[in-house]
Amino acid sequence: MRNKLVEFRNVSFRYGEEQPWVLKNCSFEIYENEAIAIIGHNGSGKSTIAKLMNGLLFPQEGQIIINGRNVTHDSIWEIRQDVGMVFQNPDNQFVGTTVQDDVAFGMENRGIPRDEMVKRMNETLSAVGMQEYRLTEPHKLSGGQKQRVAIASVLAIFPQVLILDEATAMLDPRGRTEIMKTVASVQEERHLSLITITHNLQEVVQAERVIVMNQGEIWDEATPREIFAKRTELREIGLDIPFVAALSDELRKTGLPVANEVLN
Ligand code: ADP
Repeated sequence: MRNKLVEFRNVSFRYGEEQPWVLKNCSFEIYENEAIAIIGHNGSGKSTIAKLMNGLLFPQEGQIIINGRNVTHDSIWEIRQDVGMVFQNPDNQFVGTTVQDDVAFGMENRGIPRDEMVKRMNETLSAVGMQEYRLTEPHKLSGGQKQRVAIASVLAIFPQVLILDEATAMLDPRGRTEIMKTVASVQEERHLSLITITHNLQEVVQAERVIVMNQGEIWDEATPREIFAKRTELREIGLDIPFVAALSDELRKTGLPVANEVLN
């Protein structure tokens, strides 16, 4: 049986007592070696979910369990070993003056022995194809290279859950495809739970399961194919009309294959 790595049990959250609830009674589970996409209109609560998963925020109601451990103020140290996050803007994530300093930082903080650090540094930088940039200053890298280093820094901690919060949003299509390939191969090798918060159709289609958020609630949870079959309803909750769904609409008009065939 697959190990359950993330569980939200009836989680509700608001940013302050006078503020509206931004997550309402959300429950879901994510297993090891599972690739999940979270989609939804801006402000639907996606990033808040990500922040709750690694103890940057705590819910007022409900329970969050990561790898069998409740997320509480006392457990965030362990939780952050298990959950790695990469955000949209890599410039906000660098702490080191060189690529290797940056990757070392998180490991040093966790007291990982020197030999092990060197081993992980080599392993993660080669996994993301950035070995030859070890001594480069992060600000001299391209957007895609920066995001690779940010991912390497997180992978060096050996998390079991990797969250990419719009992490490819600033990249061109080629950079995005390369990062996605890299992440997919690491996920397979390490049996990670991969959670991608995204507006990008290609990333959604590659997920095994999609969680659709609407106004702080889980609107649907299903395979990409099942979700895109509901494209009219998706439009009603303000989601961008995915390119392929739009294309399939066009094809339908001409009597040619419709969404499901196109998505395959
Ligand atoms: P998404 O990632 O889907 O765009 P967020 O989780 O960022 O959504 O935001 C959900 C809601 O919470 C939005 O209404 C947003 O305005 C609000 N929100 C986000 N961050 C804060 C904050 N620091 N303080 C108050 N409200 C916030």
